[in-house]
Amino acid sequence: MRTVTVTILPRFRGDKKAPMFAITAPMCYGVCVMKIYVDFDDCLCETARSFSDLAVELFDKHVPYEEIRFFELNKSFDLNEEQYEQFMLKGHEPDVLLSYKETPGASQVINEWLSEGHEVSIITGRPFSAYDASRKWLDDHDLSQVKLYCLNKYGRDSFIKNSDFSLELEDYYKMTFDFAVEDSPKAFRFFSHLPDLKVLVIDRPWNKDCTFPGGNYTRCFDWESIRRIVGEKRDAK
Ligand SMILES: [Mg+2]
Repeated sequence: MRTVTVTILPRFRGDKKAPMFAITAPMCYGVCVMKIYVDFDDCLCETARSFSDLAVELFDKHVPYEEIRFFELNKSFDLNEEQYEQFMLKGHEPDVLLSYKETPGASQVINEWLSEGHEVSIITGRPFSAYDASRKWLDDHDLSQVKLYCLNKYGRDSFIKNSDFSLELEDYYKMTFDFAVEDSPKAFRFFSHLPDLKVLVIDRPWNKDCTFPGGNYTRCFDWESIRRIVGEKRDAK
């Protein structure tokens, strides 16, 4: 964190002692505040690993996390339409959403950004019906300060219009970001309007073979890498 020490001296001093007051306060210069987009599933938490367990429980389908080759789970788990619907409904039940394990380091790094004055928005493709449980997951994982938006990235569901917390596409496109943390190649199209955006792609089995749309995309294997890359840009400003 950048700090500025403000020293206040009395106008008329008769002695040569140290300053009477020294106030040290965190200060973020205007230029260093960054806006950061973070996806939820498989960025903040290990959703796919839970879906792998769920496929065994519901359908006796054994597809280890490492073999989830497609972002479309119906393809990865070879599910028919009915099974896929059941799968997604179960995966979005509050108790299931709340059980997802945090991706190591996510909360700590995001809280560091917040403490430096950066703005962090969690923009998830989850339907708005999952908002409350998603919000609780964030709160339970020391992320009560981040904003949460549900954006219909994948067409899975509609969400409640005119809500304070849902995000219409036209409103999303008015937002700007310096960094985005994503795992899904399906979501890359939401970044094409921001040519200066740095996209940090969390390495997952379903994005290993994808071609990045541009040189502004970087594969990251953990949150420590993400912290370092964002920190380098911050320090360069
Ligand atoms: Mg995701």
